[in-house]
Amino acid sequence: MRSLNHFPLLDVANRFVSVRLKLVIGLFVLAITALSLFGYSAATYYQNQEQQLRSSLFNNYFEEFNDQIVKLKDSITYIFEAQVVLSQADSFDALHDYLEQSLPELQWLLPISDACIAQYNKIPTCFQQALLPPDSLTEQVQANSGPSHVIDCRDYCSLWIALPVRTARNQRGIFSFKLDLAEALINVAHRDNIDVAIIDIRPQADKSILIATQTERQSNTWFDNALKQSNTSATSFQVDGEFIETQQFSLASQGNHNQRLLIVKNWSEQHASKLSHYQNLILLLLATGIMSVVTGFLLMKRPLRSLRYHATHLPAILDNRGYRPQPPRSGLLDEFDSLDRISLELADKFGTMQQRIEANTASLERMALIDQLTELPNRTSFRQQLDKSMKQAQETNTDLSLLYIDIDDFKTINDKLGHKFGDQLLKRLATRLVQLCPSDNRAFRLGGDEFTVILIGHNHDSVMAFADNLAQWLARDITIDEVTISVTPSIGVANALQSSYDSDLITQYADLAMYASKRKGRNCVSHFNIELAKHNDLVFTIDSQFKEAMRNDELELFMQPQVSMLEQRIIGFELLLRWRHPEEGLVSPGRFLDVIENGRHIIPLGYWVIDKSITLLEEIEFLGLKDLVIAFNVSGRQFDDKNFANRLIQKFQSAGELSNILELEITESAALTNYQQVQSQLSAIRAAGIRVAFDDFGKGFTSLSYLSKLDCDKIKFDREFGLNAISSSSSQYILLSMQKLMNQLNYDVLVEGVETVEHANWLKFNGFDKVQGYLFGKPVTKDQALEMLARSKQTSSLINEQGYQIELAQQPTASARH
Ligand code: C2E
Ligand code: CA
Ligand code: CA
Repeated sequence: MRSLNHFPLLDVANRFVSVRLKLVIGLFVLAITALSLFGYSAATYYQNQEQQLRSSLFNNYFEEFNDQIVKLKDSITYIFEAQVVLSQADSFDALHDYLEQSLPELQWLLPISDACIAQYNKIPTCFQQALLPPDSLTEQVQANSGPSHVIDCRDYCSLWIALPVRTARNQRGIFSFKLDLAEALINVAHRDNIDVAIIDIRPQADKSILIATQTERQSNTWFDNALKQSNTSATSFQVDGEFIETQQFSLASQGNHNQRLLIVKNWSEQHASKLSHYQNLILLLLATGIMSVVTGFLLMKRPLRSLRYHATHLPAILDNRGYRPQPPRSGLLDEFDSLDRISLELADKFGTMQQRIEANTASLERMALIDQLTELPNRTSFRQQLDKSMKQAQETNTDLSLLYIDIDDFKTINDKLGHKFGDQLLKRLATRLVQLCPSDNRAFRLGGDEFTVILIGHNHDSVMAFADNLAQWLARDITIDEVTISVTPSIGVANALQSSYDSDLITQYADLAMYASKRKGRNCVSHFNIELAKHNDLVFTIDSQFKEAMRNDELELFMQPQVSMLEQRIIGFELLLRWRHPEEGLVSPGRFLDVIENGRHIIPLGYWVIDKSITLLEEIEFLGLKDLVIAFNVSGRQFDDKNFANRLIQKFQSAGELSNILELEITESAALTNYQQVQSQLSAIRAAGIRVAFDDFGKGFTSLSYLSKLDCDKIKFDREFGLNAISSSSSQYILLSMQKLMNQLNYDVLVEGVETVEHANWLKFNGFDKVQGYLFGKPVTKDQALEMLARSKQTSSLINEQGYQIELAQQPTASARH
């Protein structure tokens, strides 16, 4: 089992950040960035706005200052223009008097500290006589002929306002008033809690303050800082924790180039509120951030925990231990809950799967090498063992033989007694096989009814003796479910030397030898020889050559007479297939029919035989022959074609009325194998007037219980059956009982393979009449057969194909009596 640490899933899980987590982090970062950008631009905007606001505010202050001055000027102008006109003074002295009289009154209204009067281009006379009005002012008034003003900072900054006056006699002069500037400054300053000063900017003046509001109240450092600036744009600085902003304004428009108006404002309060505003903003951002983190954490806590859990536990599922899925939740379910559920199911499935796999592995391993039914080692095991044993045998120079065992007619037993019975039978045979095998040699089941035995360290004779023994041992009666049965094996033997220690070859050789046993009539042991291999080669060529053979007319039907011993005449012919092979010569069906029956040519061959048989029938009709049986052979496979009976009947009926008999021969075992299918077709065939004979009766497996069901007219006793009867009294008894039974059941009986006169005599005097065999004639060509028939008729005796007359005893001989 793999260690968890080496499981790649874990590495992936460790590196894995869920999409959702990525999304949340992404959104979070985006939100913070957007908020910061927004806050920054808002702050910048706000700051710009504030800057503009502040500078416009300072401009307002300056304008107000100017307004104050203009107001003062306008007030004075207005008062004096009206008064002077009203006084109608006709001399300058009168004007002087008038000014002197009205001045105290005026000083109630305006902060006038001095007043002067002058005739054009004359030295003015002033009441205080402290300082004369600046020349620039009087020059302006003269030039403009209108009121003018100037801020004059020669001793102390004051506002001089001058206006032209005229006597009734049209003498022109100038009234000049010196006003306290402080008033104007205070009027501006008091409104917005600012400080206003007029400063001297001449280099030698060293930037001194000329007049100022509230200088005592404020720290002088404010002004010190404010004085450091040289231009007229707004400047801010911080002093003693106070946030100060100042701006200087040129007084050039007041005719004053050496002085500036300085406005100082303490923004501390506003700044504090602004600061707190920023603080709030930051706090808000912070709170949003924290809230996002907390919300994110709360949202992601469970999924992350679940993720970690799965990352560490999913590999554990594969290990099928230590996985305890979390109990299912309710409420807001997400993908992780389905993951939980799936994990749970998965763990469960893996668990049961693993258990099942473990349980199955053992039986699979067994199944791979052991045959389930018989518990013998199977084909795979056989191949492995054979390879191993062959190697050892070659190295140690030991004898190794292989026995190939096939149970005769097992298929028939299976079909007749059922597969269950067949299985039981195979089990019992396997047990017998094991019982007989020497301990270090082994028996195998290759499948079906095929077994093998590997024999090590036995010489040829000992192997053959073992095989014979085995054949006898297997052939002993077996009782299964109260049915007693005996089966015979066909055994083939090959040895390692013959096959030059090649596993495949020895198997093939033993198989060939086994087939040779089958051909020999089953129930025997054959040892492989090279002739078998040659035969096998022929078999391989048969299938490919047979089609050509049919097309090239290489096939022929020979005829073997069937005779009645009592009537001394030929009663019919059996048609037997021959192949005139271009190289092999005349080949009997025993050499090729097996191959054909298992191949694709059997159906066309079957119809070819039928065609030929009926043609022959028509020929002998034409020759005027009567009451002859023309028997042809069919194989069980031909009934696989459902149209077989129909086609046969059609062909038969096309021959018209017949005085001779057509007879179909089918082996009893073939008829019983395909019982249902064959029987219904046979019934139809019989109903159409074709006779049916069961061939090879008594050879192989026969169950008497089936005899009553056979739908046939004739029974042909097998050669062996008849031969055995002469030598064995029990066989004799069986044969005679059978004969009796057949007679009772009204079956026609014929005995095949009669070769000797003794055999024929025995049969003749034991109640058998119809026979067929080499004694009465071997299979010959049609012409020879017809000639034999003619001669027999002529002589009214039995004459074989060589023209010899067959003399049978007229009286029972000693040997023929039972
Ligand atoms: P089968 O139908 O039992 O034919 C009798 C076989 O015994 C023939 O062999 C015949 O030559 C042989 N025989 C006859 N008398 C004696 C005898 O006294 N002693 C011995 N030892 N043998 C004798 P054959 O002609 O080689 O035919 C072998 C088998 O081939 C036939 O057995 C039959 O089953 C099959 N067969 C022959 N012709 C055809 C055919 O046209 N179609 C089919 N489907 N099978 C055929
Ligand atoms: Ca036959
Ligand atoms: Ca036969």
